[in-house]
Amino acid sequence: MARPLNIDAAALDRAYVLHPFTNLEDHARTGGPMMVKGSGITLTDASGKTYLDAMAGLWCVNVGYGRAEIADAIREQAVTLPYYHGFSSMSTDTPAILAERIVKAAPEGMARVFFGSSGSDANDTQVKLVWYYNAARGKPGKRKIIARNRGYHGVTLAAASLTGLEGLHKGFGIPLDFARHVRAPHRLWEAEPGMSEADFVARLAGELEDLILAEGAETVGAFIAEPIQGAGGVIVPPKGYFPAIQEVLRRHDVLLIVDEVICGFGRLGTMFGSEVYGIEPDLMTIAKGVTSAYVPLSGCVVSQRVYDVIAGAGRTHGPFGHGYTYTAHPIAAAAALANLDIIENENLIGAAAERGAQMRAALADAFGDHPLVGEVRGEGLVAAVELVAKREPATRFDPSLKVAPRVIKAALKRGLISRALPSSDTLAFSPPFVVTSAEIAEIVGRAREALDEVTNELSTEGAL
Ligand code: PMP
Repeated sequence: MARPLNIDAAALDRAYVLHPFTNLEDHARTGGPMMVKGSGITLTDASGKTYLDAMAGLWCVNVGYGRAEIADAIREQAVTLPYYHGFSSMSTDTPAILAERIVKAAPEGMARVFFGSSGSDANDTQVKLVWYYNAARGKPGKRKIIARNRGYHGVTLAAASLTGLEGLHKGFGIPLDFARHVRAPHRLWEAEPGMSEADFVARLAGELEDLILAEGAETVGAFIAEPIQGAGGVIVPPKGYFPAIQEVLRRHDVLLIVDEVICGFGRLGTMFGSEVYGIEPDLMTIAKGVTSAYVPLSGCVVSQRVYDVIAGAGRTHGPFGHGYTYTAHPIAAAAALANLDIIENENLIGAAAERGAQMRAALADAFGDHPLVGEVRGEGLVAAVELVAKREPATRFDPSLKVAPRVIKAALKRGLISRALPSSDTLAFSPPFVVTSAEIAEIVGRAREALDEVTNELSTEGAL
């Protein structure tokens, strides 16, 4: 399709678009980079400047930009049948083929997929699945859902209530009253100095159980967790965390929702993050990597145990009264199938494991003994460098210094896209699985230069 020539899209963007997570007044004045093209892990903006995308968009373009195979699958589906819905027993073929593929790849016991369009809407669906399931079992009081501080589950009302980041609650009067939060499994800040990993796990599991007991187990329906907390800081759980948590949940008849939106489809070097940490989900949320973001698609993967209750409830409660116009969209499913073919044919999960080990080693090498780095951590092809004012004892920067955002800005100047994560000064790295060794070296090198620039500035400002 020919785009109209001589249009200043950047001016239109500043004038007409209301951007997410953006300082709107600043943006209306100055705008930001406008990306017009992508190939592999490289983006090009409207001025012709290129960037290495060390974030795969928002942790999602896992097979990289410019994959013609996915474009072809989208086109073919669009000309054959662009849309039909899944309400009232109607169906289309690509979502059915995809659902089988997802269930077969998922952890044991998973049985069905309910499709949506975003991680947020899928997590809202999870909440309703939990409520419906418990109502059907004659336990309608089990409505509270426990999430974790620094967890990210999306921005729709239920999902945002589960998200454990203050910035997403402020100004909206949320969390809604069904949500509770427990401590993040972030050893750097949440364990006492010298506390062993095992003691930290015991503390976390104990606090979860105390909360369930305080609220009353008859009021608690589910616990939701990402295998690795992504947007909240790339927080890697301590060893034994999930088995200990699961024991508590089972004891109190509380379902486990595993939010695999970032980890799913290879990011940790395995098909799902659950495999890495011994997690046995009752419900699993997927999005992002299922299509590598070429088309929006999400899903709730439901275990046989939960499905049986929900299906049986039709007799007493009427049909499961929930669904979106775009539930099981055939074009999204076709894109997902092409994306999963690429991941399989090119062994990109193996590549994520291999390149991930390389990237984490290179980051540890470049940043490990930097005086302003408190921790380099990660798993598979996702990593974080957490910046601190002082290493011993670990001390945060004054948030008003905006250290991580400044590093991100300095990196952007050098043609590198990373992200500053909220709650502390953390830089994230989550490139497409097709990243090469040379690109990893370039990403790490530019990130180090950016940190050095900001370190010098802070030193000149007398902030160190
Ligand atoms: N869950 C997790 C773990 C996520 O990382 C995200 C998005 N970053 C979401 C849910 C929400 O997904 P979406 O932005 O597609 O609504």
